[in-house]
Amino acid sequence: MTSPTTAQALKALVSDRTHLAEALKSADVAPLLMVLVHLGGDPAWLDRVAPYIKGPWSFHEEAPEDLKAELHRAVVDILADYAATGRDLPAAPDAALLPKMLDTLTGQHVPEDYYPLVAEEMDLTDSDPKTVHWRDTPSPEALAAFHVIVIGAGFSGVAMGIKLKEAGIPFTIVEKNDRVGGTWYENSYPGCGVDTANHFYSYSFNVSHDWDHFFAKRDEIFAYIERNSVRTGLPDQIRFHEEVTSAVWDEAAALWRVETRDRENQLHQFTANVVVSAVGQLNRPQYPEIPGLDSFEGPALHTARWDKEIDIAGRRVGMIGTGASGMQVAPAIAPIVDHLTIFQRSAHWAMNNPLYFERVTDDKKWVLNNLPYYAKWFRWQLFWSSSDGFHPLLQIDPDWPQPERSLSAGNEELRQRLEKHIAEELGGDEDLIRKATPDYPPYGKRMLRDNHWYRMLRRENVTLETGRIDHIETDAVVMADGTRHEVDVLVYATGFQARRMLTPMHIEGRDGITIRDSWGEDDPRAHIGMTVPGFPNFFLIYGPNTNQAHGGSAVYYSECQVRYIMQGIRELVETGAAALEVKQAPFQAYQEKVDGALSKMAWAHPNVNNWYKNKQGRVTQNSPWRLVDYRNLTETFDPGEYDFRPAHAETAA
Ligand code: NAP
Repeated sequence: MTSPTTAQALKALVSDRTHLAEALKSADVAPLLMVLVHLGGDPAWLDRVAPYIKGPWSFHEEAPEDLKAELHRAVVDILADYAATGRDLPAAPDAALLPKMLDTLTGQHVPEDYYPLVAEEMDLTDSDPKTVHWRDTPSPEALAAFHVIVIGAGFSGVAMGIKLKEAGIPFTIVEKNDRVGGTWYENSYPGCGVDTANHFYSYSFNVSHDWDHFFAKRDEIFAYIERNSVRTGLPDQIRFHEEVTSAVWDEAAALWRVETRDRENQLHQFTANVVVSAVGQLNRPQYPEIPGLDSFEGPALHTARWDKEIDIAGRRVGMIGTGASGMQVAPAIAPIVDHLTIFQRSAHWAMNNPLYFERVTDDKKWVLNNLPYYAKWFRWQLFWSSSDGFHPLLQIDPDWPQPERSLSAGNEELRQRLEKHIAEELGGDEDLIRKATPDYPPYGKRMLRDNHWYRMLRRENVTLETGRIDHIETDAVVMADGTRHEVDVLVYATGFQARRMLTPMHIEGRDGITIRDSWGEDDPRAHIGMTVPGFPNFFLIYGPNTNQAHGGSAVYYSECQVRYIMQGIRELVETGAAALEVKQAPFQAYQEKVDGALSKMAWAHPNVNNWYKNKQGRVTQNSPWRLVDYRNLTETFDPGEYDFRPAHAETAA
């Protein structure tokens, strides 16, 4: 509980009204307005300020100074009034005002179907509504006989562990690294950070008001995950530096037989009633298939395997790949290297966000920590600005006359804004503008944040090479036209083996069918992204079709999945059933629904190659849903979609 709702805390807050009024100057207008209307219920304030809120980010607000000063005074007055009268702060705003409040906060229309999500996400009563509670509390013996193995201790695995622990369910997390954090531990390349504002990109059940940046860098995010893990005592249940090599379903015993390999290459065997894979999609680095790759004699660094011991300062560096990782690493290293040659196969679209480089001031942290409900409204504003507000821009309008450029009128408008930004940043350099402008519609690949990419391209010591790489030699990258780029160090910003999901683990379900038999090399499919026919008691977090590429937070999706999986586990524990397995019919119906929705979205566009599509052109990684749709799909585990098998004989250990 961080809001000072006790009478004592409220009195302390208003004891120095001058200080409070001064501190409010660092608050953003839109969430501050929400605090006032939440506490006072006066809709007139919405009418007065709404015209100045033009969009969902703080920099979209244009309220005049005198109106802001009046707003600050009104907030101080209402808090002082609550303190003086001893009245409790209202837990929720007036329900009748909520629609107008949400529209005003975001400067856009928030549809009605978001209201349950808003209530849940804002968690105004601090009751953690996503936690799954027992309906029929199991006996200690029943619980002791149950065991879950979670594979991976990244953002999702840690969330799963925390919720299992809260429910008292025995579990073990197997983690191949020596620390938690997953992708946020492994990726430590210069400039590594997040594209989604952290006051939203974080656990809803442990929101931090102390982020130093709106868009944190890797160390801060890693520290946050580790803090959550330590705070809940999770490390005691994590087998670090151990990798799951296989998980085989034993139908007779109704148990998973899991094998792991430790750092000394020793194998260990375990059994589990349930296995949850939390290895995600961005787990195994992808190296490019370029002839001569292994002949390069200098250091070669993949962004996901950065070696800080290798000093790149003053050296000639070649970087292959210009996706989300390349966008971050190149501007970070360009100022220190002798020369940076960027090998770009395709250009990427990148949005500008003025908050991307901003630090959160101490005053703002104070407001987040102390002003009742401010942090909650602020978080929800970011939820909207970072996610579903963009969803319509990714839909293909079948009648749009310029499909090679854009997808729809809205998408075209966005394209023009992005092009304007590129042209401005590149100072009218026509050659660079041509090279840096993608030849496909915005959102065809992941939308990036401009990490000063374009102004980096103008540096004297940076070359953008857009020709085709022919091969690599001991000391150079050689282009198809014969140009040799001599380099001392190579950086592979070439992404992950995302489509070969769960690689290299051997996952074998019922009747000896493996996950590769079921999915082939690159066609992963799961019911609501989580369960697969033939693989009883097996759940995936961040599995097939759960990547949010229109925006959003992977943490939000994993929390939806953890809730669903916890309900599935509750079903097993409470009923004593040995196994549950998703039925073919709902699985198939869901695949058709997903494919149908995806076929109308940006990633399916014929001009586009991306890591979301498999060789057959099916989008296997991304979710087509708005966050609210996925929340609704996963809110309630439906036992009717699963086959249940009677109690098992053997106990897990
Ligand atoms: P990526 O988006 O898959 O980008 C890989 C890059 O390597 C692309 O530019 C690709 O070109 C290029 N490439 C691959 N093989 C090549 C070859 N043989 N020759 C030349 N170029 C080649 O990988 P990533 O940048 O690591 O990002 C992966 C995902 O991680 C992101 O989409 C995102 O979900 C996540 N991520 C997020 C952040 C963040 O939050 N800021 C940061 C890093 C990563 P083409 O485009 O032509 O295929």
